[in-house]
Amino acid sequence: MPNKKKLEVLFVGAELAPFVKVGGLGDVMGSLPKGLVKQGVNIKMILPFYGAIDTKKYKSKLVKKNINLDIDDKQVKFDLYQTLLPGTKISVFLVKHKMFNGKDIYVGGRKYMKGRVYSRSVSDIERFVFFSKAVAETIRTMKWKLDVVHAHDWHSAILPTFIDEYSLEDKNFANIKTLFTIHNLANQGISGLDIVDYGGLHQKLTPALMEDYYDKDGDKIDMMKIGILSADFVNTVSPNYAKEILTKEYGEKLETYLLRRQKHLSGIVNGIDIDFFDPSKDKLIYKKYNAKNRKVNKAFNKQALQKEMKLPQDDVPVFGLVSRLVNQKGLDILVPVLDKILAKNDVQVVILGTGQPEHEQAFKQLAKKYPEKLSANITFNITMAQKIYAGSDFFLMPSLFEPCGLGQMIAMRYGTLPLVRATGGLKDTVKHGVTGVVFKKYTQVATKKAFEQAIRIYKNKPKFNKMISTAMHQDFSWDKSAKDYIKLYKKLA
Ligand code: ADP
Repeated sequence: MPNKKKLEVLFVGAELAPFVKVGGLGDVMGSLPKGLVKQGVNIKMILPFYGAIDTKKYKSKLVKKNINLDIDDKQVKFDLYQTLLPGTKISVFLVKHKMFNGKDIYVGGRKYMKGRVYSRSVSDIERFVFFSKAVAETIRTMKWKLDVVHAHDWHSAILPTFIDEYSLEDKNFANIKTLFTIHNLANQGISGLDIVDYGGLHQKLTPALMEDYYDKDGDKIDMMKIGILSADFVNTVSPNYAKEILTKEYGEKLETYLLRRQKHLSGIVNGIDIDFFDPSKDKLIYKKYNAKNRKVNKAFNKQALQKEMKLPQDDVPVFGLVSRLVNQKGLDILVPVLDKILAKNDVQVVILGTGQPEHEQAFKQLAKKYPEKLSANITFNITMAQKIYAGSDFFLMPSLFEPCGLGQMIAMRYGTLPLVRATGGLKDTVKHGVTGVVFKKYTQVATKKAFEQAIRIYKNKPKFNKMISTAMHQDFSWDKSAKDYIKLYKKLA
């Protein structure tokens, strides 16, 4: 490829902040492209036109009506809309079909399979196979010239397979290379074999699909596995997680396939949107602050948070947690430890999240038991999240596993010290005693010790202040990681 030509990359995924977001996938989809465009890459993005997208706030225009899609042995039609990623000139294309009209991004309940690995219900898998094929069809119809298709997580993991199939009939597809990014290996998109017929795939031509057909437990198709085996290159969202997933402990039963792709597998740490997550510009928090005036203004945020959470406005360490309430986040050890810590110490805890009913319930019970010390907010609320990042002293992330984690980086940017377990991206981004409190073993004893360390740090004001200042000065922008992605794209193109 001549040097002067700009790289043409298509981003494909199920979430995109600020349009739709459930977790970190949405954040990364909404911020990495800005970092890439800054460094001269041409980006287009595509996602389903969910009913959840606020069409009053985000105006879009119809670019192509009635695009034909051969799916489930039928000719189905979808429409293509176009809008811009807010604050940028990046085009976001939206696949409009009634399958996505509902208010939920994901429609299926989560089904637990293979231990802690879970899959969505089959109807969700159909929706995203439909979406992936619609993306391939859009590339053909719109005659997009692309160097790289960058697919994210299981929702678009089958897209490299569709691209291979389309390339047999359309030479526009022959030069497209594919990069598959794993944001979370535990969400795999597992379905029955009939999904192959649904997608109208010619399994004889696609080795990754054949592998599932003939696997020992061969009545399942695993989207994540297909992505791993079929993309030209695979990466995940931190260097440490890229190593961990090659082991049985973290490989979620896909380690054999990841080991096979080891030469084509790397880890690039996520950044955060430093314009959105900026305490000196954040309109959602109680009072803006920066590293210089934070002593006064962050203290204001803390008191306002205590007030809003109906906690006494005392000078005690406040621990915040903003998270999906799922096993991954270490809640089965956190809850009993909190019970012990709250019983014996003057600390306060503010919880924000939704997820598995047993965890939601456990936090509600703790709030009842310690009404003066713990506030449980079982909801999804971006404004409240920002207020917690700004108003807490410490941020809780004792994860069982964590591909990268954004919460700890957002917290540091707001001068809130993360208390994390040394796993995945948490190990790559938080330094013990320097920018946060890091513990190793996934045990109640180790977690409790970390709390006690945090309480000691809070009391040692010179150390506490130095750590806050160091945390606030860390560079979590996309600048460096975008460069690493560009190196990867160039290697592929
Ligand atoms: P994951 O992707 O596993 O959910 P991350 O730490 O990578 O975890 O990203 C989580 C993102 O979602 C952060 O931006 C966090 O602030 C946000 N978030 C999680 N739960 C909530 C909630 N209940 N309300 C608002 N924001 C939330």
